[in-house]
Amino acid sequence: MPSGSLPQRTPAIVGNWKLWGTRAQAADHCDRLLALLPDEGRRPAAVGICAPFTSLDLCVEKLSGSGVGVYAQTMHQEESGAFTGEVSAPMLTEIGIDGVVLGHSERRQFFCETDRALQEKVAAALAAGLRPILCVGETEDEREAGETERKLRHQVQEGLEKVESERLAEVTIAYEPIWAVGTGQVATPEIAQDAIAFVRALVADRAKEAAERIRVLYGGSVKPDNAAAILAQPDVDGALVGGASLDPESFARIIAAAAP
Ligand code: PEP
Repeated sequence: MPSGSLPQRTPAIVGNWKLWGTRAQAADHCDRLLALLPDEGRRPAAVGICAPFTSLDLCVEKLSGSGVGVYAQTMHQEESGAFTGEVSAPMLTEIGIDGVVLGHSERRQFFCETDRALQEKVAAALAAGLRPILCVGETEDEREAGETERKLRHQVQEGLEKVESERLAEVTIAYEPIWAVGTGQVATPEIAQDAIAFVRALVADRAKEAAERIRVLYGGSVKPDNAAAILAQPDVDGALVGGASLDPESFARIIAAAAP
């Protein structure tokens, strides 16, 4: 099991730095975060950070032995080839990366990432020994049109299609409603619970036992003051945190909010 992971369905709180952080900023951030976190055995959640490629090796070094997992924010499905600008799973494992976020809504929207490519990426990540976090979620228009379940069904089924049933529980899914990502408009705890229970039921259609073990996180404007109510929902297994993870104090408070 990669560092930063606890046994299944203990919560996980993962910070997505997006396009933030020079190496100097990343080093300072890691130092400040470690100073705020309880020792690994006393944390209420597994903790991870998703840094830009240029800071990943430095984060691995800084966080080594701390139990904080280091994740990339994307990767290519092929190991090598004519894909200028891309990074592959073996390149990430070579520098000690634990996992990778796949299909973040910003990657889907701005970089044309498709469900078809994502199903290859999820499988390639697992094959290389990386823990994938597959992001899914509906737009505001889709929610208003009653299309949320259709969208989630499509994204979850496509994204997991190439994962064998025995390995499904090794994937983490992040339910991130697009209208809540980076907007300050957090989902209500009820919306998060309902959507995540639906995602879990989709996994159960493939494998009941995996559905009980797979982690499904909520993401979208999670902050220290709204985290506890969302994390208290029975199907919510943690949070993928963007903006609030850039401040180590806010991030540490969200981690603390995972305590039962
Ligand atoms: C994210 O980047 O996955 C995210 C949820 O961002 P924010 O917390 O800023 O909405």
